Amino acid sequence: MDNNPEISTIAQLRQNIDGINAQILELLSQRAKTVIQIGQQQTLSSMSHYDPVREEEMLTALEKQNQANNGPFPISTIKKLFKEIFKASMDLEDSQDQKHLLVSRKVKAEDTVIQIGDLKIGGGNAPFLIAGPCAIESEEQMDSTAEFLKDFGVKIYRGGAYKPRTSPYGFQGMGVDGLIIGSGAAKANGMAFITEVMDTRDVEIISEYADILQVGTRNMHNFALLREVGRQSKPVLLKRGFAATMEEWFYAAEYILAEGNPNVILCERGIRTFEKKTRNTLDLSSVAIAKLETHLPVVVDVTHAAGRRDILVQLAKAAFAVGADGVHIEVHPNPKVALSDNEQQLDFAGFRAFHDAVKPYLAAKDVVVK
Ligand code: PEP
Ligand code: MN
Repeated sequence: MDNNPEISTIAQLRQNIDGINAQILELLSQRAKTVIQIGQQQTLSSMSHYDPVREEEMLTALEKQNQANNGPFPISTIKKLFKEIFKASMDLEDSQDQKHLLVSRKVKAEDTVIQIGDLKIGGGNAPFLIAGPCAIESEEQMDSTAEFLKDFGVKIYRGGAYKPRTSPYGFQGMGVDGLIIGSGAAKANGMAFITEVMDTRDVEIISEYADILQVGTRNMHNFALLREVGRQSKPVLLKRGFAATMEEWFYAAEYILAEGNPNVILCERGIRTFEKKTRNTLDLSSVAIAKLETHLPVVVDVTHAAGRRDILVQLAKAAFAVGADGVHIEVHPNPKVALSDNEQQLDFAGFRAFHDAVKPYLAAKDVVVK
């Protein structure tokens, strides 16, 4: 024991401090629990968690109390400390929200399986291909490609009737005529038809013809469109925005689920980076993370990721190896004269070689391919 009186006073005061720390922690925990309750109510009534007026009121009340109590801390210090507490509380509310996202595996542990005809997508079912021309250009082009692809067991036929083009003077698609041609060719060959929707005003007509609606990379942040496709009944393939984080992509899917449509397929199609040898950089870690954090099926679009034909097999194999449920690829009878994406679409011989190379991956899930 120390007989020095100063030392024993310090020890006593330190004990007091320990007790006060424990009380502060207890109060902070109580505060956090109350904050979570408020956050849940705000989420239920679609209110923002951040309320600057309320924050200002709390700071003013603290300032008054500090003055009345002659508190030793200057008000600037008190405000700084409480602003830290407010920020930690906001972060807590936001993280609680994320835990409750409909897309999250924490909310739904089992994989979402989407049935289209006799094809089951996701949930460990055999991987599949989505294939077809970039744009619908003519009946002949769509019929011949569909007839060719069906012999390879392709069950989902793609073709754009409304094309998002960088230049307003580029070919913009055939519109409703394209929908008629594309859906007819798919149906005649026993395939489902997927096509892109770019405008809320077209959702109704496109969902009459398409079996799956595609939201393209440029529209991943189009929240009105996401809500609209969430209100109709067809499955939606949601491409990742070319400059979107994974979190933003998952939130975009959440918009669709929150409107009542549970059938969303995520599609990674490459993101924009400094790299110029590919059109986009295929981010395969997003496939692994989407499979871990969400319960939705995931498809990889190798065509738009690469922007070139010579690495499509490698990218598709990598996509399947990392856990993709399907691969998306563009095929055109004569890519040289295609009205869009003629650098990267495969011709029939190219597709045959591609299919030969990836065939083992299409046989069954979890198959180990050397
Ligand atoms: C497409 O698939 O037709 C397309 C335009 O792709 P993305 O939105 O990925 O560019
Ligand atoms: Mn294309």
